[in-house]
Amino acid sequence: MLKKKLTWVLILLLLIGISAGYLILNSNDKAMEQLVNMNYTEEEAKQIKDLGIANDVISFGDSDLFETAFRQNKVTKDNYKRYLKANDSLPSGYSMEEVISNMDAMAAQGYTDEEGFSLMSRYGKDVTGQLFSYPKPEKLDTVLKLIDKGYSVEQSIKLSGESTDIIDLLIGEDADYELLSTLQEKGYTLSETVNIMKSIPSEYHELLKKMKYLPSLEKLAFEEGFKFDLLPRYILAIQYNSKTPCEAVSWVNANGDYVSANSVNYSGLYHDEKEIKDPTSITVYVNKQNYLPSDYVPADLVDLPSGYYGNGQPMRKEAADALIKLSDDAVAAGYSRVYGQSNYRSYALQNSLYKRYSANSGTAGADRYSARPGFSEHQTGLAADLGGGVYSMTDFQYFPGYKWVCQNAHKYGFIQRYQSGKEFLTGFQYESWHFRYVGVEAATIMYEHDWTLDEYVVLFDN
Ligand SMILES: [Zn+2]
Repeated sequence: MLKKKLTWVLILLLLIGISAGYLILNSNDKAMEQLVNMNYTEEEAKQIKDLGIANDVISFGDSDLFETAFRQNKVTKDNYKRYLKANDSLPSGYSMEEVISNMDAMAAQGYTDEEGFSLMSRYGKDVTGQLFSYPKPEKLDTVLKLIDKGYSVEQSIKLSGESTDIIDLLIGEDADYELLSTLQEKGYTLSETVNIMKSIPSEYHELLKKMKYLPSLEKLAFEEGFKFDLLPRYILAIQYNSKTPCEAVSWVNANGDYVSANSVNYSGLYHDEKEIKDPTSITVYVNKQNYLPSDYVPADLVDLPSGYYGNGQPMRKEAADALIKLSDDAVAAGYSRVYGQSNYRSYALQNSLYKRYSANSGTAGADRYSARPGFSEHQTGLAADLGGGVYSMTDFQYFPGYKWVCQNAHKYGFIQRYQSGKEFLTGFQYESWHFRYVGVEAATIMYEHDWTLDEYVVLFDN
């Protein structure tokens, strides 16, 4: 009896075992089947099953990210949930491979996937690629604001460590990224750059981009009473009068550097003379400290058409063309024709002129109105002593079109080189007639800021 009972129990157990096994086998088959339906191969389905994640994968449904990561062998039992993402929650514009390689990078740098994905959606591949090559910045928000402003990732990370003051300026509404980077390229430090941007009004910012590196600019601009248009004179006061930036501003503002025409030491301004390296430059600076080589003759001298010049002296082509236009437009404006009475003069001619003048007026007298050989702008082929109608050069200021010429010459690239009241800067007496071609851009800058060429070259390369 007992034996029979035991047999029944054994049979029952066997039946239970068989049906359990059948159920398990059956459900395994079902999972396999579902995975295969989701486009996994049988072998892949088996791997997923072996990882023990089949149910999660099946219940999540299609995930391109998971599928790609799985095939790249990125998926483990611990990390598989990172990749189970709905296709529409992935950053757009990236391939699955790119998403995965960014996921590796962002995790390594300390970003969560959500942060990383949101950055990837907001910025392109270039920016995120760079961003994820650095550890997640402490001030990520600031870094992103700087990136939005146009700074590179590298700059933004570096700048984010600056004080709130500086950051506010950099991301402010008026912040000029281009100016900031241009000034830094010239050699200003970041804090100098920021101070310059803060203290110099934005109307001058375009000009700042074109100017050369000026070591005293930041200190000068910080001074109370600083006037941008007096900048060249402040710098000259520091260079030649041993003023500190602070002294320079108040001294020049009070016209301390001004010397009246009669008190200028016209001969004394010849000192520390240097030979000019590039005499062909359109903005070449010839004065009592900078002379032309004695054998310099411009290569592109051309004659002016008859009526446009007085004594047959040529000019450099570009300057001649500009003078012809100016002259024609003076006529169109209702004045008599303006003409170049004395233009290019050779070293030899200047030598004989200066000798004659100094024999007549003495050295001091001649140095007031005539340049020594090599020191004359006329040797550049870019200068013209103008007459108009019946008015010869020495009467040019009485020519009815004189004012028109003064107010419009810059539009043709000319400046009045030896102005009244600027003798202490130019080193020559006022010459209403002497105009110098420097090109439209430079001439316009000088005209608008009331700078002589002497002042211009303090600020700009020539
Ligand atoms: Zn002249």
